[in-house]
Amino acid sequence: MRTHHCNELRESHIGQTVTLIGWVNSARDHGGLIFADLRDREGLTQCVFHPEDNPQAAKLSQTLREEDVVQVIGVVSKRIEGTLNDKLPTGAIEIVVRELRIVNKADVLPFQLDKDLSNEDLRMKYRYLDLRRARMSKNIRQRSIITAAARRYLDTSGFFEIETPILSNPTPEGARDFLVPSRLNPGRFYALPQAPQQYKQLMMVAGLEKYYQIARCFRDEDLRADRQPEFTQIDIEASFIGQDDIMTLVEGLLGTMFQAGLGVEIPASFPRMTYNDAMDIYGSDKPDTRYDMRIIDLADVFAATGFKIFRATLDGGGVVRAINAKGFAGITTGQMNRLNEIAIQAGLPVKTLAFVKCEDGEFKSPLWKFFTDAEKDALVAKLGMAEGDMVFFAAGSRDTVATILGRVRTECAVMMELNKDSTTFNFLWIVDFPLLALDEETGQWGAVHHPFTRPHPDDMEKLAAGDYANVRAVAYDVVLNGYELGGGSIRIHEKDLQARMFSVLGVGPEEQQIKFGHLLDAFRFGAPPHGGLALGLDRIAMLVAGEDSIREVIAFPKNNKGADLMSHSPCPVDLKQLREVYVQSTWKDPKPVP
Ligand code: ASP
Repeated sequence: MRTHHCNELRESHIGQTVTLIGWVNSARDHGGLIFADLRDREGLTQCVFHPEDNPQAAKLSQTLREEDVVQVIGVVSKRIEGTLNDKLPTGAIEIVVRELRIVNKADVLPFQLDKDLSNEDLRMKYRYLDLRRARMSKNIRQRSIITAAARRYLDTSGFFEIETPILSNPTPEGARDFLVPSRLNPGRFYALPQAPQQYKQLMMVAGLEKYYQIARCFRDEDLRADRQPEFTQIDIEASFIGQDDIMTLVEGLLGTMFQAGLGVEIPASFPRMTYNDAMDIYGSDKPDTRYDMRIIDLADVFAATGFKIFRATLDGGGVVRAINAKGFAGITTGQMNRLNEIAIQAGLPVKTLAFVKCEDGEFKSPLWKFFTDAEKDALVAKLGMAEGDMVFFAAGSRDTVATILGRVRTECAVMMELNKDSTTFNFLWIVDFPLLALDEETGQWGAVHHPFTRPHPDDMEKLAAGDYANVRAVAYDVVLNGYELGGGSIRIHEKDLQARMFSVLGVGPEEQQIKFGHLLDAFRFGAPPHGGLALGLDRIAMLVAGEDSIREVIAFPKNNKGADLMSHSPCPVDLKQLREVYVQSTWKDPKPVP
């Protein structure tokens, strides 16, 4: 239907007769001369209709409305001097139209496509129009480009792309499963995969050695900001490798993707930091290292303090730490309230964060009077306190203090707009995650990564001795500018160790057989050492696109209630359909999803 796309014609084409097809981006009448910008996926081309040369086409062009689909045949011509548009790649030429065919008329649109729209619901209801907008079209294109680059890289690195079932069994990744009733097996359910974890490990047992998949994963979670019930991972597993091999592979993979998507060169290898250091220094296992604002330990400053709260904390084995938000003394009351709220949510036992404000040559703080001169001097030196700075303290257990100051640090950075630099890419590996975490409510130990993660070889004795809090995992996350891009681990490949791990996690022998019998069985028949990782493709696409929500890089995302406002999914089903799958609803008042 066309000889060229709408971003193709240049001065070198002048004189050629061409056919273009696309949407009317805009049409305007300049005293009888009609101009219309024709748009397709690739770009815009200006078309002009001369009434004196071609009265028929010119007349028809007067009926053009935005988003009509039209086809034009015309001659590529040089624009007259003064009307050249150097912002447009096709801005030196225009099509003098000989023939215009209106292929399909468009109704008046529910919103304008050339303006940013804040009404998220409206965007989602008419997502197919939203996606026509240049920004969205660019995002979707970039996503396709980086996905293709990932495939190319993994293909050439010897990885097989292999699909795994969507109708599968539950695999524990820490979320709720989406269940699908089985009509052929009354009373039984499939679970949609939270990740293809067990399948990819079984592929290693199968001898496939290197696997990847652009895998859709499903997790029924309460949708916090920037989560989707279904999302896409670049899922990877390999045999006969160690942690360093996975890291090298992933560094190359991300390098290829960022090069393809943004044309930027990222470092060939990323710095590494242990989980413990990340928590101590940044209060986060996915620190944004574009800004410093480190958490500083003040044990030596307050070693001899008489200030009651600090004294009691230090004597009780706790820590006293602080961050210096440099230049943030001008913090507003509203911002201070917000920080207090965040700190309380993070575990601050009192109502307000302790602070010192360095303002007008003074140290303003409710605490200052409790410190000795020596403590004051040491504090100023240790925190590098200077005019205009704002220091926040926290005292308590090491974990709580890390969480509080970590959140405060991140929020201060947002308030001070330190997180806006989209041209710096601070990749970072976090390694040596803890293997297990205690659920305070149930008293049960749970897997920090997942139950298939290998305990650190140096911590096997601690595992045997039940010192679970101090056992590290061979698990790693890759982080970029405060976002976790992905994570993985070296796996357990021995049946006995895996069974022991399940026991530690409170899964008894019988339940192990029911839920994981296939995996434990497989490990009996020569399972190779293996490991892998999964990268969040949505998040990577988001960062490449410079967006701050993954919804902007997913063609048809769900809203924060897990609903699709365009197709009205999820929808009620009739009783007959439920009966066919042997399901009875206990939901009495099925309100339609808005
Ligand atoms: N299955 C893990 C996840 O989804 C990734 C991995 O361990 O490879 O987070």
